[in-house]
Amino acid sequence: MYDLIIIGSGPAGLSAAIYGKRAGLDLLVLEKDSMSGGQVLNTYEVDNYLGMPGMDGFDMGTKFREHADRLGVEFRETAVKAIQDEGSRKKVCTDSGDLEAKAVILATGAVHARLGVAGEERLMGKGVSYCATCDGAFFRGKAVAVVGGGDVALEDAVYLARTCEKVYLIHRRDELRGQYVLQQALKSMPNVEFLYSHVVEEIQGEEAVEGICIRNLKTDQSSLLSVAGIFVAVGIRPGTELVRELTACDEGGYVIAGEDCATEVPGLFVAGDVRKKPLRQIVTAVADGANAAVSAGAYCRKM
Ligand code: NAP
Repeated sequence: MYDLIIIGSGPAGLSAAIYGKRAGLDLLVLEKDSMSGGQVLNTYEVDNYLGMPGMDGFDMGTKFREHADRLGVEFRETAVKAIQDEGSRKKVCTDSGDLEAKAVILATGAVHARLGVAGEERLMGKGVSYCATCDGAFFRGKAVAVVGGGDVALEDAVYLARTCEKVYLIHRRDELRGQYVLQQALKSMPNVEFLYSHVVEEIQGEEAVEGICIRNLKTDQSSLLSVAGIFVAVGIRPGTELVRELTACDEGGYVIAGEDCATEVPGLFVAGDVRKKPLRQIVTAVADGANAAVSAGAYCRKM
């Protein structure tokens, strides 16, 4: 039986592994693909991680992994099918058999919902973004579009409108879903244009985003909008399916756990984008990983 099994090898999982290993825990990291690495590997440039300005996302993810390798962290490539709470031991059922540990840290991250339109996949990281606070600075003085009508879309639009020349908010209905205060804040910004009842049909550009094709659902007319970036904010899907029956989650599926990353199930911890919290960034994922490993270590020592 391991002391600790960490599920996920993004920044949260790797940070947990480093802290756990240095605390002398016998631990194993499970990843669904070799070098899964999390969202950071697909990030074009990370410019908001302390001490690493302008960092290539792939290089950053690789550095995180090398750090864990250097400490001798054991990785296993396998898909986790279930986690069973058997009190003082947790059973982790995988494609390649069952494993046991005193404690488990779930660090399976989250994925941003996609629009599913032509050009989105190809231009991801080249003007197509899912995170305004991560990538907004690259579009200073330029025109951008934000898609969605929820809180994230409205917050992103407010954030971008402070530095971008123009922000188009594109929403598929004629009524916004997000909070009234955010709507009011946005409506007071002169460089924001609301395009209600519009959908994005295609994202265009050769090497980078140059424009988007949008359609007015009321008139069925399509038109071209010249933008350098498009921020997709049509929902987030946390990877919490494995624990939804075990512990409390909020309405969005995020696991409820405090700064110590402990869930209501003794021995089950969560770290990174799966946890309910106000800011989901690499830096907060890494912090969660450290906190979760320290909490898991304290839990193991008490047993
Ligand atoms: P959300 O509230 O589910 O909103 C998603 C938006 O995307 C909706 O307006 C939806 O349109 C639209 N949408 C969904 N699929 C689409 C598609 N295929 N094409 C075009 N539009 C599409 O998600 P979220 O904004 O990411 O927020 C997630 C959760 O975090 C929410 O519960 C939110 O309240 C919370 N949150 C809270 C705060 C805060 O309290 N400060 C900040 C951020 C997030 P419809 O409206 O037509 O369904």
